[in-house]
Amino acid sequence: MTNIVLQLPEQVIEKVIAHYNDKKVNRNGAGIRFAAKLTDTSITVYNSGKVMFQGAGAEREARQFGVATSTAKKSAIVKGDQLPKNLASLSIIGSDETGTGDYFGPITVAAVYVPANKIELIQTLGVKDSKQMNDTIIRRIAKDIMASCPYSLLTLRNEKYNELQAKGYSQGKMKAMLHNQALHNVLTKIAPEEPDYILIDQFAERGVYYNYLKNSKVLVQNRVLLATKAESLHVSVAAASIIARYAFLIEMDKMSKQFGYTLQKGAGAKVDEMAAKILQSHGEDTLRNISKWHFANTGKAQALYKKKYRH
Ligand code: MN
Repeated sequence: MTNIVLQLPEQVIEKVIAHYNDKKVNRNGAGIRFAAKLTDTSITVYNSGKVMFQGAGAEREARQFGVATSTAKKSAIVKGDQLPKNLASLSIIGSDETGTGDYFGPITVAAVYVPANKIELIQTLGVKDSKQMNDTIIRRIAKDIMASCPYSLLTLRNEKYNELQAKGYSQGKMKAMLHNQALHNVLTKIAPEEPDYILIDQFAERGVYYNYLKNSKVLVQNRVLLATKAESLHVSVAAASIIARYAFLIEMDKMSKQFGYTLQKGAGAKVDEMAAKILQSHGEDTLRNISKWHFANTGKAQALYKKKYRH
């Protein structure tokens, strides 16, 4: 069962209570200020300012208060593992992926080993959350990280991605397999040295993650921690996110060269237009080979193409 706890400021708590007031239930537990029950989610507000969402709809409900409000931005969505207090200063292999939300281009996953005695060095390189860094800086810093630390970098190109997707693999399963493989590669590289922990930037609950891997020949399971926003918990995950992003950019460069214009990132309306253009200039097979074909963008591009280019 999904269980999400948000620490929210009073003004947001009041909004939560007002929002669920007509679904209010009476629950007399220690420290409980308010409780409500939807068909698929229970909401409990504590005097401490914590709000717990429990059940199948937990993420959907929590999202309304955990992300949308700027005052609540800092509150972490807690659904991962209990973490050691000194995690940031330990020797860790971190892993992260990128490209999952981009219509064009691959999924890339990186795992990086940052031992305790290199944490400072990696921080000095300017490593932080790759989402806060521009592409130019990412390209430079990624090379510095790769020269300093053992790492593994995997690229799942569109052709293979589409093949797996057609076989029924979810994106979650593909990601799990790539993380597991990259982590295994780094463990092999650094053996007999071992990290204190392995830290995965979490994209699935632990049970779901290992269920994706149930048929894997090698399974990295020892001392594995899963946590969301892990790039802020240990520099190894931030480093991994930078290398993954770097690999994604390199692939996009190659593909853009092939077409003579820069392929659009993301999955928005500009992507639809570009995909329609490629349908016109290169045809469907080419578009399939550079895209995540099952995304809604494909259908939108086909409609645009019919409207614009065929009469
Ligand atoms: Mn991530």
